[in-house]
Amino acid sequence: MTKRTWSNAELAKTLARMGVLLELDGGNVFRVRAYKEGARVIENHAESLAGLVDQPGALEALPGIGKGIAQHIRDLVGTGHTETLDELRKKYPEELVELTELHGLGPKRVRTLFDELKIHSRVQLEEAAKAGKLRGLAGFGEKVEQNVLKSLATASQWAGRMLLAEAWPHAQALAERMRQLPGVKQVELAGSFRRRRETVGDLDVLVCGGDAEQVMKAFTKHGSVADVLGQGETKSSVRLEVGLQADLRLVPEESFGAALMYFTGSKEHNIELRRIAIDKGLSLNEYGLTQSEKSEKVVAGRTEEDVYRALGMAWVPPELRENRGEIDLAREGRLPKLIELSDLRADLHMHTTRSDGRDSIDAMVKAAIERGHEYIALTEHSKALPMANGFDAARVRKSVTEIEAARARHPGIPILHGLEVDILADGELDLDDETLALLDWVVVSIHSHFSQAPAVATERALRAVRHPLVHAFGHPSGRLIGSRDPVAFDVEKVAVAASEHGVAMEINASPDRLDLSDVNARLALEKGCRFVIDTDAHATGQLDNLRFGVFQARRAGLTKDDVWNTRTFEAFDRWRREKRSRKPQAGGNGAPVVATKRESPAPRAARSKPAKPAAAVGSAKPKRASSGAASGKSAKPASRTRRKG
Ligand SMILES: [Zn+2]
Ligand SMILES: [Zn+2]
Repeated sequence: MTKRTWSNAELAKTLARMGVLLELDGGNVFRVRAYKEGARVIENHAESLAGLVDQPGALEALPGIGKGIAQHIRDLVGTGHTETLDELRKKYPEELVELTELHGLGPKRVRTLFDELKIHSRVQLEEAAKAGKLRGLAGFGEKVEQNVLKSLATASQWAGRMLLAEAWPHAQALAERMRQLPGVKQVELAGSFRRRRETVGDLDVLVCGGDAEQVMKAFTKHGSVADVLGQGETKSSVRLEVGLQADLRLVPEESFGAALMYFTGSKEHNIELRRIAIDKGLSLNEYGLTQSEKSEKVVAGRTEEDVYRALGMAWVPPELRENRGEIDLAREGRLPKLIELSDLRADLHMHTTRSDGRDSIDAMVKAAIERGHEYIALTEHSKALPMANGFDAARVRKSVTEIEAARARHPGIPILHGLEVDILADGELDLDDETLALLDWVVVSIHSHFSQAPAVATERALRAVRHPLVHAFGHPSGRLIGSRDPVAFDVEKVAVAASEHGVAMEINASPDRLDLSDVNARLALEKGCRFVIDTDAHATGQLDNLRFGVFQARRAGLTKDDVWNTRTFEAFDRWRREKRSRKPQAGGNGAPVVATKRESPAPRAARSKPAKPAAAVGSAKPKRASSGAASGKSAKPASRTRRKG
């Protein structure tokens, strides 16, 4: 095995694991916190820490990195291990760390499970929970037992998959290495990675050109590889240090397009294309589109465009290749022009040290400017989240002056005074209307009572989006990919209400949220909703996650026009002001009735409780009726069965 280089993400992950194991071990709270804090700092540090180990004092100079943590980093980078971790591993199976990641199980409960029942794997945990053995343990009870079973079910749906954002840097590094090889003409990452699904099961790397032996060697000897599973002349398979399997295929130039289509998938999309080929008397496989199985006269194969054209349709962006209506649109030349990352001008959901963020207002503003944002909103938490230093009414009033001061320090970028206001269990907002009226930008979110019955959850969400002072619904479903199921509200009903009241639906770009999901965003689009795409950054580095929100939006078929933060500040600000003075509109999409430059009346005037929406559920006209079959009304995502690609 070649000596590995430690990325910041890997160092952070290792330190975070040490923190959890120490906590299990009953370690000193401050020491535990130092590991977790260190991990956060490292994860968000732009410069490679592995490159600093040889400079005396360079690591210790970073905020949040003490002597102890710095030494661990030096040990890990230098020798691949560190004594503290080795000792902890002797006492506890490392699988315990994964158990603490299950919703409802912290280190304390996991330690109890280990001490009392010798449980250290998910399988053992499931057996014990099903046998009713957990309820009797100290700090458990029947409800916790039920929740454990639920989180296990959620986690198992994701077994073997990795978040797209986690896989992203590893996949790009591998592809970049291949591109550098002499003679290599094209390198593509196919599969669900190319379709930008929220999780990926493995990586499919396609290479064209170059010397076969050299390509295979560069792939199997890459620094990120842990094991070589197979090596051949045109295909090799490896397992990466991070756990992902990666397959590389060397493909001849004349069939690269056909191979790329084949390995990009989805299976459902490809089956449909093959059917269309057969109807035309053709045959489609990974080598090309041929006249018939026997004559093998190649019609197309060099590029994807060639193959789609020969099938009588436009090239389909990979994000749409799920057989959800895109094939008809491609044949009719009506595919939407999908939103691009460069279309976004703003990020409208982020936290600073004033609530639970890790960087100051100034740091966040500067980082946003560096990323080319033209305006931003700062959105701290509200008081329902005391552990996140949520704001109460008095704190919001104080914040008005803080934001004014920040604007004076950063005159180059409009800063909206926003807040992420909790939607309480009954749908009431966490702050009174007078306080909300002080804010430029009100995002409402669910952070509690995630398992309400569908009817209760629907009423709750409806009440929130009908509130006249609300601008956007943040991470609407509340899901955490792999650990928490979405709240079970009726997405269709809530989307109709959001559209009528001009409330934007958020596509939250946090890698483990990606909320709304692609399926639900598509449904909301069909109900006339408009969107915002935000990072919900809690540190400057996380502002880069915006791309993952854009991927999700593309999978939902969203265009630039469907997303408010693609507008210039003037256009956005006009909508934001008019939103609060408008009456609900059946089938509306949140666009101002008449776009004028006139200032809208002060928000105060609009503070009366809104009338019931005039239209019944489902009466809203779909905007692009055939843009896909978003099925299912509840917030539950579509089935996540693992499939090729
Ligand atoms: Zn939130
Ligand atoms: Zn947030």
